[in-house]
Amino acid sequence: MKHTLPQLPYSYNALEPFIDAKTMEIHHSKHHQVYIDKLNAVLEKYPKLQDQKLEDLMRNLSSLEMDEADKTTLRNNGGGHMNHAFFWTIMGQEKETQTDLVENIKKTFGSVDQFKEQFSNAALLRFGSGWTWLVEDEKGELKVYSTANQDSPYLNNHTPLIGLDVWEHAYYLQYQNKRPDYVRNWWNVLKTV
Ligand code: MN
Repeated sequence: MKHTLPQLPYSYNALEPFIDAKTMEIHHSKHHQVYIDKLNAVLEKYPKLQDQKLEDLMRNLSSLEMDEADKTTLRNNGGGHMNHAFFWTIMGQEKETQTDLVENIKKTFGSVDQFKEQFSNAALLRFGSGWTWLVEDEKGELKVYSTANQDSPYLNNHTPLIGLDVWEHAYYLQYQNKRPDYVRNWWNVLKTV
């Protein structure tokens, strides 16, 4: 089974003025599509892996019987596909607050504001390209951290709850070098918290 580009659950201009339509269009139709194309290409060599869930491939990556270079391609492009597919779903024009998640955040971080501060700091400290995450770890505890490149939290056997793309392609057209402004504005389009 080939992986395919999921439709955005909103239009390209839906997140304006916080994320501009052109960025969303290129990010979704070009960047995300390339991860999918490269993922499908590498999996063509490994028919047995084609129907496995990407979450499981990431959890078991180190033990997969693959050429090392192909494994890196899978890590980067499988991660790229999953991370973006997830990212699109947590954003939107209208809040759809997940009350259980908010309660958990308050329990773990003291308050939503303290969580946002910790998460934003992790996003700003990420050097170069990567993502910032709120995850549930293997013990069911919430953690904030950032990953390089397209590394998925599933590589750590963690489940992503919130993720922010801090690659320059996610914000450069509108924000240029001002990642702090992008991160601050992004909270307006995160619908779950
Ligand atoms: Mn991206």
